[in-house]
Amino acid sequence: MLTTRPRGTADILPGQIENWQYIEGMAAQVCREYGYREIRTPIFEHTELFVRGVGDTTDIVEKEMYTFQDRGERSITLRPEGTASVVRAYLENKLYAGPQPVKVYYIGPMFRYDRPQAGRYRQFHQFGVEVFGAQQPTVDAEVMALAMDFYARLGLTNLELHINSLGCPTCRTTVRDKLQQYFQPMLGELCPNCQSRYDRNPLRILDCKSSRCTELALDAPTTADCLCSDCQAHFEQVQLYMQDLGIPYVLDKQLVRGLDYYTHTAFEIMAPGIGAQSSVGGGGRYNGLIEACGGPSTPGIGFALGLERILLALEKSGKLPQIQARPLVYLIAAGDRAVRSSFSLLARLRAAGIAADMDYQGRSLKAQMKYAGKLGVRYAVITGEDELQRGSVMLRDMNAGEQREIPVGEVINTLGNR
Ligand code: AMP
Repeated sequence: MLTTRPRGTADILPGQIENWQYIEGMAAQVCREYGYREIRTPIFEHTELFVRGVGDTTDIVEKEMYTFQDRGERSITLRPEGTASVVRAYLENKLYAGPQPVKVYYIGPMFRYDRPQAGRYRQFHQFGVEVFGAQQPTVDAEVMALAMDFYARLGLTNLELHINSLGCPTCRTTVRDKLQQYFQPMLGELCPNCQSRYDRNPLRILDCKSSRCTELALDAPTTADCLCSDCQAHFEQVQLYMQDLGIPYVLDKQLVRGLDYYTHTAFEIMAPGIGAQSSVGGGGRYNGLIEACGGPSTPGIGFALGLERILLALEKSGKLPQIQARPLVYLIAAGDRAVRSSFSLLARLRAAGIAADMDYQGRSLKAQMKYAGKLGVRYAVITGEDELQRGSVMLRDMNAGEQREIPVGEVINTLGNR
């Protein structure tokens, strides 16, 4: 136990973290260009927020939350997704009273007690955006464009964007009635979970992972068939803008998404070739959510993208850049006096913004040279007794295999210029 991490979690080690920093940096850059600012909310919230915000008939709330009583006997849940927390922060901090829309993004860990497998973890990371207070179809298109732009800049261009419309509450009542009619004769064949969802929220049956339920749902009526004229018009506009932006998409009437609060546009992005868990992101509009959480009636839309799966897709397609985080300079010293002089030169190099390191194990000159080679540093700065006498160092270009002696006072300038 002491040396084993909990199932479904991962350590991100030096050597791997550079890839994460690259992806996260790209997310921040794209968001800045699209006018989204970062928000950070707590990793845990009151359980009630997710029950209300994600929906009590969802898999997440029914089966997957990490919920516990804290020492004050409050029910606390590790966040299973980001939207509910951002909505809570929008309300608590009265961001609705400021200029609208509010456009934010977040990056961080989420927690779901799911069955771990390739691409599915119990702690995973999402990059997400949310826009509050804008209902124009241009925003639906912008949010999808941002996601696709982010993937494309990373080099993922072979993705499939699926879109659908889930309509408004009026369309939902129509589809609910039709779904109940459709499933009524086969009610006994549905899984126990879906039998209870039949009354509470029959749309969720379309999202069930059991193979029998999936089979039974094949010819079920879809929300897209039940849209009112306003929702139909909104969805057509969204598609028009997507076409104008030249972003290809697949109309997918089966798409319902795993969270209860979606209205209107819903979308999901698939990466072929990364295995059974092929969804690398998804999102949609949730015009009723902010009101359901006790706020003023406010339209909202957003997405969440899974960083582990994006990394998997980048690896599979050979699109991960070779990023090396190594010091530029390694100081090599022979003898105590040389160590002392090198140690203070090290501090000066770092103060000048030059990444540098040196031996801390009392290794021999030869072993230090070997280690510098292993590190793959660009330069070695060697100080021996002779150099010390002359107030100089030996500057070795490790790539070229050449070295020359320079005054110790010129090291920073010489390296700084390179
Ligand atoms: P969701 O919040 O369920 O809409 O998920 C959005 C994205 O997060 C998915 O498309 C996945 O890329 C990622 N994701 C969701 N659940 C997991 C998980 N258990 N492990 C890894 N990634 C996940």
